[in-house]
Amino acid sequence: MEEMKMTFEELAVDKEIIKALHLLGFKTPTQVQQAVIPLLFNRQDVVVKAQTGSGKTAAFAIPLCQLVNWAENKPQALILEPTRELAMQVQEEVQNIGKFKRIKAPALYGQYSFLQQQKDLKQKSHIVIGTPGRVLDHLTQKTLPTEAMHYLIIDEADEMLKMGFMEQVAEIAATLPQERVTLLFSATMPKSIRQLSKELLHLSTEIVIEDETITPNRIEHFYYDCTDWDKISLLVGILMVRNPDSCIIFANTRDLVEQIYEELTAEEFTCQRLHGGMEQWERTRVMDDFKQGEFRYLVATDVAARGIDVENIELVVNFELPYKRESYVHRIGRTGRAGLKGTAISLAEISETKQLELLEKMMKLPIIRLEEPSAEAVDSARKNFLHKMHQLPAPKTAKTAAIDAEIMRLHIADGKKSKIRPVDIVGTICAIDGVEATDIGTITIWDWSSYVEILNHKGPQVLEALQTKPIKGRLRKVSQATPKRHKH
Ligand code: AMP
Repeated sequence: MEEMKMTFEELAVDKEIIKALHLLGFKTPTQVQQAVIPLLFNRQDVVVKAQTGSGKTAAFAIPLCQLVNWAENKPQALILEPTRELAMQVQEEVQNIGKFKRIKAPALYGQYSFLQQQKDLKQKSHIVIGTPGRVLDHLTQKTLPTEAMHYLIIDEADEMLKMGFMEQVAEIAATLPQERVTLLFSATMPKSIRQLSKELLHLSTEIVIEDETITPNRIEHFYYDCTDWDKISLLVGILMVRNPDSCIIFANTRDLVEQIYEELTAEEFTCQRLHGGMEQWERTRVMDDFKQGEFRYLVATDVAARGIDVENIELVVNFELPYKRESYVHRIGRTGRAGLKGTAISLAEISETKQLELLEKMMKLPIIRLEEPSAEAVDSARKNFLHKMHQLPAPKTAKTAAIDAEIMRLHIADGKKSKIRPVDIVGTICAIDGVEATDIGTITIWDWSSYVEILNHKGPQVLEALQTKPIKGRLRKVSQATPKRHKH
């Protein structure tokens, strides 16, 4: 169904945000954005049933970036996410969208220094993204002020419920001002989520986005009968013959993920794995490398891969069918994005036929059986396969890079200890010919050093000028900083 195409301008989105959207390649608002943006501008509570892939993150990130009062130092919006990966990903999207509004958006999640997060929070912070556990820790330690928090976004509510976070979410909500706007996003709407939204939200509007989600016709579904097969050799054969540009393979347990990973690596697949048993830094690195296209195959459990935003996954394989039907939808949601065609393949035994039928019913789409590739087919495919494994695939996300290209980050070798404040930096920079306040991005001031982003390609000019212009009465050592990655 072709819906009426609106523009971001028609939704009354600011030009600084539209500029960022343009660089991110967001041309027109998706359905969920068309529905949610005006409601949030109207400060209405909303319950949204929408999937990852519908553009739901931007649906709340765009209005939040526009609604927050830049001058306020205390955080004004809180976004809750079930996993660290999602928190990081949403942080990146908020920072990208809010770049030209100079929005600061720290993320709070576990397995990362509490103290560093505490420091981040002492800087001006507009929008805070976090996982419930760590957010509660900060609330208990009084390191996260809530007085100005007038927006609460509960994202992936069904997932939070599954992970047992609901009490924490309710506890967090109770510490925020009563006068607030609350949005709840969930891929599914079980009774308990409805109940929760009744408790936490004021009279809310409910929005259901079905089209862009559960029945993605662009995805073809297949299965192989693996009853009489060694599953790993069947998988290897299928992958060699299909030879996809990029692929995620799902399994239900960490051990099996490790095993598949080892076996594929032994067969010269460029491959990595992702599961909850890995250290946070390792998981982050794997996801970044996958997004950058450093390898083509990712083996993962559901939890670790939930909601992960990687574009253009050509093939999703269910090495095992997921325990829950919804997980199937989440898994295949990684493919067939942005109008591209995708393929989902499941390896299923005869005993799982019933499960396949239920999946077909749920998606209203057939899952077609394919014949196992013959030994000859695999053999003749091997050469092409190896050739591809030795080529580096194209990077997957250039979005952040597109935003960063306009920006130069400068390092000033003095900070709080020299009593430098943002206004001192702004004052000096605005006194440079041809440079205005709107050319300045976020400013971060630490004890001994400060960072300032210069927008609109004016970085080199400002860098040069600051070599001879004093900041707060003294010439400071100013140099180009290494670009900030959106991770730690
Ligand atoms: P989400 O549902 O928030 O996980 O978003 C799915 C993907 O769509 C992300 O890669 C977004 O950056 C991208 N996206 C969001 N809104 C738009 C839009 N209006 N046009 C194009 N891409 C978008």
